[in-house]
Amino acid sequence: MLVICCVCHKTKAHNRWAKQAAKSGAQLSHGYCPQCYRQMMEKIENFFAMNGYRKSA
Ligand SMILES: [Zn+2]
Repeated sequence: MLVICCVCHKTKAHNRWAKQAAKSGAQLSHGYCPQCYRQMMEKIENFFAMNGYRKSA
């Protein structure tokens, strides 16, 4: 089963993320590549920071 990043559409093959066309009929699992995952986490942290979210509050 291939993992495809739902943000940049890279697929993971042979433990490497690369832009490549997935074979038709291949089973795809949507996820995040490490790069997009980190960007998403930063966005979430910024979102909470802008909304005054405090873990200790
Ligand atoms: Zn990605």
